Amino acid sequence: MQYQFNEDFALKMDQEDILKDFRNEFLFPQHQGKNTIYFCGNSLGLQPKISRKYILEELDDWNEFGVEGHMHARHPWFPYHEFLRTSTAAITGALAHEVVVMNSLTTNLHLLMVSFYRPDAKRYKIIFEKGPFSSDRYALASQAAFHAGSSKLFDPSKALIELEPRPGENFHRTEDILATIQEHRDELALVMIGGVNYYTGQLFDMKAITEAGHAAGAMVGFDLAHATGNVELKLHDWGVDFAAWCSYKYLNAGPGAVGGVFVHDKHANNESLPRFSGWWGNDPDTRFTMPEKFIPRKGADGWQLSNAPVFSMAALRASMDLFEKAGMDKLISKSKNLTGYLEYVIHQINEKCKDLNAIKIITPADRGCQLSLVIEKNGKELHQYISNHGVISDWRHPDVIRVAPVPMYNSFEDVYRFGVLLEQAIKETTTQVK
Ligand SMILES: *Cc1c(COP(=O)(O)O)cnc(C)c1O
Repeated sequence: MQYQFNEDFALKMDQEDILKDFRNEFLFPQHQGKNTIYFCGNSLGLQPKISRKYILEELDDWNEFGVEGHMHARHPWFPYHEFLRTSTAAITGALAHEVVVMNSLTTNLHLLMVSFYRPDAKRYKIIFEKGPFSSDRYALASQAAFHAGSSKLFDPSKALIELEPRPGENFHRTEDILATIQEHRDELALVMIGGVNYYTGQLFDMKAITEAGHAAGAMVGFDLAHATGNVELKLHDWGVDFAAWCSYKYLNAGPGAVGGVFVHDKHANNESLPRFSGWWGNDPDTRFTMPEKFIPRKGADGWQLSNAPVFSMAALRASMDLFEKAGMDKLISKSKNLTGYLEYVIHQINEKCKDLNAIKIITPADRGCQLSLVIEKNGKELHQYISNHGVISDWRHPDVIRVAPVPMYNSFEDVYRFGVLLEQAIKETTTQVK
């Protein structure tokens, strides 16, 4: 692709974009009467216009049916999670019974680790990436402490093995990850890393990591918060044991939206796995006879605890309908193009402004739509400048701006206008140096 950093090129790219109409399906925060350049879909996705209608329908059905809405609402609440199964399986590369929508991300990580982190005195270590999202570290450390127990089955302070990038590098090389797995193979219980790192935007080779983890005799799970709806996933084919994600980032289901989980088919009927159970995980045929013995439903459904948060799932349905219409393969193909354009624009700006400031892209070539930019000088002022001019992006201490052009609703024009503002910002916020 021969990119150009000018408006005509960007507008032409938008015209040729087969997904361009999806932008009109979303509501954009406004800045001085115009759409903001919203590059924060990695943190909170935008609101689909139809979300309001989907939620209002549930309010109306609650009004009309009361408790009978469980069976008689337009989308009956009793099996409500079923309405999300096909679309969720499609974007995660899962069989239908391998996925279910429930709870929230960190809660789900804990529930899944109860089943899939089964340490003993010898095999208790967990490999994860350096600099994970804080919640993941807390979850892993507390699981290790919990399982070590008061009898100190093992030393929990030795349980977490943090993958380190090489000195001077920001991302993890697959060969190094595989070597670390190999090195700890006799003590390794679990490999649990992010599919896409939230800070650098690195996409991990989940297939290779899963194979290596299994060869070492460990379970392998992924936190897909930044991967689901962003990159291609083939969880079933890769043989991943379990995964969890949230739906408020790339899945556009709104703040605090209900999360999702994947449990591989090979564990679907394993009733001997320990798990924390609740009535919603019980076989629905006997659920209301309130049997004393818990009979887990086959597959991921057996990990459910509680009945469906319908309003949150209604918003997720709205968004997943758009994913089904657009098609994940088309979104990914646009995403590569759009983020490639952003990368090009940043290189152009670096060329033009090389005496002033430098923007370093720390995201490796294996990535989703997000680029993480280290701003060498005055990063905070520069971020403030673009924010004042209608860009929504996020600042990460000490010097990183994360920008995520989302293929579902961002345009090449957004990237172009962002580039213009970034160039202006550099000129306005950096004093000439020799
Ligand atoms: C966004 C994110 C979370 C947030 O967890 P919640 O339980 O949804 O609040 C956790 N881990 C990662 C990697 C994330 O990106």
